[in-house]
Amino acid sequence: HFISLEGVDGAGKTTHLKWLVDHLNALRVPLVVSREPGGTPLGESLRELVLHQEMSIETEVLLMFAARQQHLQSTIFPALQEGKWVVCDRFTDASYAYQGGGRGLSIEKISMLEHWVHADFQPDLTLLFDVPPEVSFERVRQARNPDRFEELDITFFERVREAYLLRAARDPLRFHLIDANRPISVIQTDLQTIISNYLEG
Ligand code: C5P
Ligand code: MG
Repeated sequence: HFISLEGVDGAGKTTHLKWLVDHLNALRVPLVVSREPGGTPLGESLRELVLHQEMSIETEVLLMFAARQQHLQSTIFPALQEGKWVVCDRFTDASYAYQGGGRGLSIEKISMLEHWVHADFQPDLTLLFDVPPEVSFERVRQARNPDRFEELDITFFERVREAYLLRAARDPLRFHLIDANRPISVIQTDLQTIISNYLEG
């Protein structure tokens, strides 16, 4: 089972990921937790570059998918083969949202890379944490060490959010849209329900 978590910066993804991992551990689910960009030593080096170095959008998307290829080969596929669950902080939907929606790279180019790197492989479940751009923008603005994506203006957050929502609307079986502009405890109750339904289905 492969579960991805998505959402604009400031949606609370990291907080909810921690809770989800604790919850799955309590259920004795064999688990590998990872993140993108990153997840491998090479991927983490690429993450450093992508997040802090100025580069063209084409270079950016190629590095994202280079990191993803390595991540799939050396972490995700082996873990799934051993029967483990993989919980990943962002996956290819983030490329559509950030490099596509946010930066304006054509969907066709992203889709070509997606097919090249992971053909028909997709997460089994994607949790999309959604908040209005005013909320996420304000949360990120108050964070201490913004990366070069987080320094952008509010319209960037709007475009990223819209791209995520579009993907969720087109694939309602895989996506669970979570209104993340509510108290954390309420969101956790939702997550618990989603996971128990998933385990039963
Ligand atoms: O999830 P996290 O906030 O740690 O991601 C780090 C940064 O990488 C985010 O600011 C996000 O905007 C950016 N990112 C991106 N394209 C991706 C994945 C992440 O621009 N495909
Ligand atoms: Mg972030």
